[in-house]
This record gives sequence, C-alpha cells and structure tokens, in this order.
Amino acid sequence: MDLTLSSEERDIRDWVRTFVTKELMPLEQQVLTRERRGERGVTEAEHTALQDKARASGFFGIQTPESHGGMGLGAVMSALIAVELGRTFVPFRFAGEADNILFSANEEQQERYLTPTIEGTKRSCFAITEPGAGSDARAIRTSARREGDDWVISGEKTFITGGNEADFVMVFAVTDKEKGADGGVTCFLVDRDMGWKSEPIDTMGEWGPAALVFDDVRVPHTAILGEEGRGFELAMQWIGKGRYMLPAGALGACERLVEMGMEWARNRSTFGKPIAEYQAIQWMVADSATEIEALRWLVLTAAWQVDNGIDSRQAQSMAKLYGGVKANEIVDRVLQMHGGMGYTRELPVERWYRELRLLRIYEGTDEIQRRTIARNLLKGHASVRGHLG
Ligand SMILES: Cc1cc2nc3c(=O)[nH]c(=O)nc-3n(C[C@H](O)[C@H](O)[C@H](O)COP(=O)(O)OP(=O)(O)OC[C@H]3O[C@@H](n4cnc5c(N)ncnc54)[C@H](O)[C@@H]3O)c2cc1C
Repeated sequence: MDLTLSSEERDIRDWVRTFVTKELMPLEQQVLTRERRGERGVTEAEHTALQDKARASGFFGIQTPESHGGMGLGAVMSALIAVELGRTFVPFRFAGEADNILFSANEEQQERYLTPTIEGTKRSCFAITEPGAGSDARAIRTSARREGDDWVISGEKTFITGGNEADFVMVFAVTDKEKGADGGVTCFLVDRDMGWKSEPIDTMGEWGPAALVFDDVRVPHTAILGEEGRGFELAMQWIGKGRYMLPAGALGACERLVEMGMEWARNRSTFGKPIAEYQAIQWMVADSATEIEALRWLVLTAAWQVDNGIDSRQAQSMAKLYGGVKANEIVDRVLQMHGGMGYTRELPVERWYRELRLLRIYEGTDEIQRRTIARNLLKGHASVRGHLG
C-alpha cells in the first residue's frame, strides 16, 4: 500500500499551493470589504486576469482532456487541486473547464457549446431541480412536447447555479410521461436567446442561484444532448462528479480554519493564560484535525477509485456525507474558539460558516447520501469491509 504522491503530483500540488498563497489569499480582505458592500468579491476582469496568469504556467482545463487543449488530469490530482483552492474563500476557478456531460455532445454541438465553454466565451448551467422536485429528481414535471422537427419546453426550474449568468442551459425535461426517469427524460441544450428567463434567488451565501422559466420555449430536435430519453443518466453523471470534488474543497477550508483557530488560541488569553492551554480548546483542535485526516482519505479513496475505473458510488457518497457534516462541525468549533470575534464580519469565519452550510444540501443532501449508502449495504452492492474487502 503506497499512500505517497508521485513527484509530478507533488509539483502540481505545490504550484497551486503557491498560486493560492501568493495570488489569491492577498485578495481576501478586499473580497470581504466588497462583499459587505453587496458587490462581487472579485470582478470579472480581475478573475480573468488571474486565470490568464495561471494559464501562462500551463494551468488550463484541469480535467479537460488534452485532445481539447486541457491538462487532462485525473480525479486524485483534481481533488488535490480542489483542496488547495478550498484553502481560500476568494472565488476562483481555473479557465478551460466544461461540464463533464458536454463531452458527450455530437460534433456540431461540441463546436457550438463545448469549445466556447472551454474557451470561456460561453457559460453553461445545469438545470434539473424544480420547485416540486429536488431530492426526488425523478419527479420532475418540466415537459418537452414534439411539434414537427421541434420540441416545445414548458416548466420551471429552481436553485440553478450560474443560471443568472449562463448563455445556455442543459435542461432536463420529460419527453415520455409513461416512462418518466426510466427512459422518458431528455436533456436539451438551450440558448438563452431561445426564450427562457432567469430570476435571482437570494440565499445566505455570497452568490445566488436562479429560478428559470420555460414558457413554451421552442428548440430544434438537434438541441438534444446525447440520446432522446436518456437524460436522467446524463444528470446522474453530472451530479456524480461533485461528490468527491465538493468535499475536497471543504477539506481545504477546514485545514485553513483549524490553522486560524490554533493561531487565535495561541494569542488569545483568558484568566492569565492562552486559551490554547485549556483542554476544552485542545479537544476542539484534536477532534478537528482527526476528522480532517479521515475526510482526506475518504475523498482520495473515492477519487482513486474513479481513476482506476472502480465503481466509486459508495465511496463518493461517504466522502460527500462526511465532508458536509464534518466541515460544518469544524467551522462551528473554530467560530466558537474565536468567541465574539468569530461572530463578526471582521473575520472570514462567519463567511465560511454560511458557505459551508450549502454542502449539506446541494448535489444530494446528507439524508440522500445516507439513503444511498444504506441501500447499497442492505442490498449487498457494497460491504462494510470497504474497498479492501
Ligand atoms: C445554492 C444552491 C445551488 C444549487 N444548484 C443547483 C444546480 O445548479 N442545478 C440543479 O439542478 N439544482 C441545484 N440545487 C438544488 C439542490 O440540488 C436541491 O436543493 C437539493 O437536491 C435538495 O432538494 P430540495 O431543496 O427540493 O429539498 P427536498 O428534496 O424537498 O428535501 C427537504 C428535506 O427532506 C429531506 N429528504 C427528502 N427526501 C428524503 C428521503 N427519502 N429520506 C430522508 N430525507 C429526505 C432532505 O434531505 C431535506 O432535508 C441547488 C441548491 C442550492 C441551495
């Protein structure tokens, strides 16, 4: 069993670590100040300049295949990068990425959607959730009816990340009511100028998703992504990717938060000595560090399974569940260690507290991950002995 990184993995990880430390962390105070004024923490132009800087060192399209101009890095490397990026709350993503399911687009669609998304000239969003169908995604009601060579889409989507800014949407609609999610849901690629509308939703996070309305939006048959009726599988494929990447980002945030907590505890004195000397505080540090280590191996195991073509669904659900639960416990402990200052907007702890809360909800709630994990075990698809058997 070898739990070490190769020298190439270490080099890439270290480059990202330096980039985060030198280019992103210095912006943190400015991000907090702007967000308090209700502005974006990083402007579009600033974000593009940062992406260009990274691109000049070859960091473009982390998971995009080399055939499409990307780095084509695997899941473990991508997770290690997400951990480093998670160490700051400055919003940043490397350029050159596209939704995994867009790679199954046909040649014409790739030219129209995939390539511009990789190049950053078009933005996408992924829309399955509806006001009446979140965890129960099979219950979607947005429909698409065939009219000659066209399809006419009607319905409402909600909580769509990037839906306010997107140029096109990957929208999931029922095309065969009888079959429903078992062969009757289709994914369509729909440009904003084909007629769908978006409305921002205010959340406790610093950025808001959107509600999307499709009021008889007419699209050509060629707008279908993949095969007619096979949309639900595409949706599950899209969601699957986040189950190790999201907790990887949270892991980075937890590392940084605990470091901040320890720094604070060494310097804050009560009753004549630093609070770091009290067992109550030490246990918070010890529990958090142990949980961070456990989360690291859950995330890396899931990613390693993806890289090795092993069915990783159980490991991914465990990483997502544990990451969501533990990241929230850890940020809460770190806020507690800071006392009243943790509750203020002068420090970024409360910002992380709000942001990390989302991890327990989107791309499969805690309860849905538990349901998946338990079902896999009870049906015999997975064993409590784990991957090693
Ligand atoms: C900020 C944000 C961004 C998002 N981005 C996107 C996006 O880009 N695209 C997209 O399509 N969706 C997106 N979502 C939607 C997200 O995936 C859903 O909110 C999530 O799946 C939960 O669905 P729901 O909100 O309808 O809650 P519900 O499904 O109504 O669940 C309510 C509660 O009941 C629990 N519950 C439900 N069913 C069960 C069960 N069988 N057993 C036990 N407990 C259960 C849930 O865990 C939850 O606690 C986003 C959501 C948010 C908040």
